[in-house]
Amino acid sequence: MKKILVTGGAGFIGSHLCRRLLDEGNKVICLDNMFTGTYDNIRELYARPGFEFVNADVINPMHIEVDEIYNLACPASPVQYQYDPVMTTKTSFLGALNMLELARKMGAKILQASTSEIYGDPLVHPQTEDYRGNVNTIGPRACYDEGKRVAETLFSDYRRMYGTDARIIRIFNTYGPHMLENDGRVVSNFIMQAIHNKNITIYGDGTQTRSFCYVDDLVAGMIAAMNKADFTGPVNLGNPREMTILELARMIIRKTGSGSQIVYRPLPVDDPVKRKPDISFARKELGWEPQTDIEQGIRKTIEYFRMKY
Ligand code: NAD
Ligand code: UDP
Repeated sequence: MKKILVTGGAGFIGSHLCRRLLDEGNKVICLDNMFTGTYDNIRELYARPGFEFVNADVINPMHIEVDEIYNLACPASPVQYQYDPVMTTKTSFLGALNMLELARKMGAKILQASTSEIYGDPLVHPQTEDYRGNVNTIGPRACYDEGKRVAETLFSDYRRMYGTDARIIRIFNTYGPHMLENDGRVVSNFIMQAIHNKNITIYGDGTQTRSFCYVDDLVAGMIAAMNKADFTGPVNLGNPREMTILELARMIIRKTGSGSQIVYRPLPVDDPVKRKPDISFARKELGWEPQTDIEQGIRKTIEYFRMKY
């Protein structure tokens, strides 16, 4: 039985990861400062043997005996990570440093939840892992993008300097149950607006694209990246099915049977025009690819939001 630390474990992705790791018979320590995490997300896990919750902040060094670390602690929605951008940069940098130090001392494996945002507003499409990105270092998204980029640097240097088993995954837009209803991300916004018959807010003209991965698929990819022998990454994990934001809005209106109208709002600064992962590397090295199509995943997500809100 492995003892696994999941930082950011009370958040959207982290809570699903904790559950899956418990299902596989591991001990799981879920660490979170509850900035965007909720007790609701992990309520069902408390009763399970092998689960432990620690309320702590990754910007502080810590000592916990573990075999593996999944480092997810960091707000992920633009609204949330721009709320206190200095804290976001500190969380990304100091969080990665502190977790790497812990991994080095424990001889533990560690996996970093990096992001497609390290490609910025990409000039290569679809994005392959060797693309170095197009990030505005001084824009409002930089606290997150550059924080995640320097975390990748730290992971690579810990591997080179100390031989730490440090792995990097780059997560593309993920959605599903446990997203916060008010965190500002497009899937949760549109579903909340649609089920309450409010206007659907498209930023810009809706021609920008994203590629949405259902959370269960992503979690399977994360565990595969941690378990594969001699694997370092970085590896893209996402669903290559690309769609416009307008297409997503129409799909959600149709699937909820909503009377909502679409309204257009200004496009946020530095909002990437297009995004789609090339997942050839994940297919080849991890034997992984998403199993849930967007219609099916959106249906399950709508069911969750209807039940909860
Ligand atoms: P989330 O906001 O739901 O979860 C992040 C969790 O980290 C929250 O529970 C939050 O309270 C916690 N946290 C934040 N700062 C912390 C700190 N200083 N110390 C301890 N805990 C802290 O977001 P998510 O969508 O679950 O994202 C999880 C990870 O995956 C993040 O690192 C994010 O960058 C990455 N990621 C997510 C997506 C996506 O589409 N969801 C895409 C790319 C990368
Ligand atoms: N978006 C939108 N309406 C919303 C929320 C987001 O049109 O109510 C757009 C946003 O401008 C971006 C896309 O949807 O082009 C995805 O936004 P999200 O914040 O979910 O993720 P990210 O920009 O980080 O990919």
